[in-house]
Amino acid sequence: MPDLENPIHAAPGDARPPRPDTLGLYLAVPFCRAKCTFCNFASGVYPASAMPAYVAALERQLAAARAWAHRHSLTLPHTIDTIYLGGGTPSLLPPDLLTTLFHTIREHFHVLPDAEITLEAAPLQLDPDTLDAGLTVGLNRVSFGVQSFVEAEARATARTHSGDEALAEIERMRRSGVAHVSADLIAGLPGQTTESWHHSLDRLTEASLDHSSVYMFELDEDSRLGAEALRGGARFGAALLPREDIVADWYAAAIDRLAQAGLAQYEISNFARPGGRSVHNERYWLRRPYLGVGVDAHSMLRHAHTGAAARFAIPEELDAFLAPHHATTWDEPELLTPREELEEAWFLGLRRTAGVSLALLTRQFGGDALAPFSAVLAELAEADLLTRTPGDGGPVDRVALTRRGQLLSNDVFAALLAAEDQPAPEQNPQPLPHAETQPSSYPATSIPTIA
Ligand code: SF4
Repeated sequence: MPDLENPIHAAPGDARPPRPDTLGLYLAVPFCRAKCTFCNFASGVYPASAMPAYVAALERQLAAARAWAHRHSLTLPHTIDTIYLGGGTPSLLPPDLLTTLFHTIREHFHVLPDAEITLEAAPLQLDPDTLDAGLTVGLNRVSFGVQSFVEAEARATARTHSGDEALAEIERMRRSGVAHVSADLIAGLPGQTTESWHHSLDRLTEASLDHSSVYMFELDEDSRLGAEALRGGARFGAALLPREDIVADWYAAAIDRLAQAGLAQYEISNFARPGGRSVHNERYWLRRPYLGVGVDAHSMLRHAHTGAAARFAIPEELDAFLAPHHATTWDEPELLTPREELEEAWFLGLRRTAGVSLALLTRQFGGDALAPFSAVLAELAEADLLTRTPGDGGPVDRVALTRRGQLLSNDVFAALLAAEDQPAPEQNPQPLPHAETQPSSYPATSIPTIA
């Protein structure tokens, strides 16, 4: 399905939106100093001696990407406007490997001079030499996984920083000339209280960042803390996890507190000053092309002839990735059907506070594909889960989640999915949450940005 138009509604001063004809490059670096108890990413405490082999494998993959895309009839844009090093803790890379990696990127792609280049870092885990090397290769954004400015909370999850140290790290980036600095917090850590949450929010706003992310801890089997809590155990502080409804209140408080500090929410978990948005992450929500290299990295490119989105990934096993033959073997791409593309456009587009444009979806997918949704959109608006805003003097165009809809986003998405299969709106059996319903799920944090 061709990507017809950029639907970003940018405020004056906002960073330029990601273009459909350029590429975002994601580099996964899975090395960490300690495995955080809440972490469900493909990362681990691997020996630093494996880093050169890992970077060499990344380089082989970068070199192989164009031929691989061509073999699968996928369009791989040559021009890159965003690069994101995530993981893992890519700030642990030694300076020479970072330099080599960027040399290889520039050998195979054209990186725009004003490309946004982000490095994820944990506080106290970005050496001055690596930072210098990063600045030399064009690094202009550092995203710190602070998670909590309360030392006891951070230490309980395997982090080692105090609140003062985290603030000092942010200040060090600014003094070093990093143009954009972001910091993440997690609501719902073991032992967290309303008072300690507000302390973290206060310190976050003190730091005068231009971007911040706030996630709610997700209870799933993929993290040690989540698995322990699900089986009713107490290890990793699982018995001290705050209640979901309280965490939802903290999330709502964060939206207000950050807005007062000038960091407006622009996505379920993301906040920025004008000019501070993560252009790379906007690619995911706007379904712009991106290529992921490294373990468990995901990609989305478009079919050269039909324009259909193709998704593919790298398996998460490090040993397999390091095997010399592996560099050319992304999993077989999966071509999305128009129906799957429309579902993605809803799920990803509604994560943004700007929401989705019905006129744009109609142009992309056709009026018939949109027709089944009109009744459920009205019901969701009635249930205070969606807002519907008219276009220029015309009918309803822009649809966005309300705050309540953000907290109940999984219910909204389930209702939209169910509507697709309903022959007539009045037969829709999917019950919508009533206004007094408590959130049944946290906003999904599907984009891997916690370092
Ligand atoms: S949260 Fe970040 S630093 Fe902690 S284990 Fe996961 S990837 Fe590593």
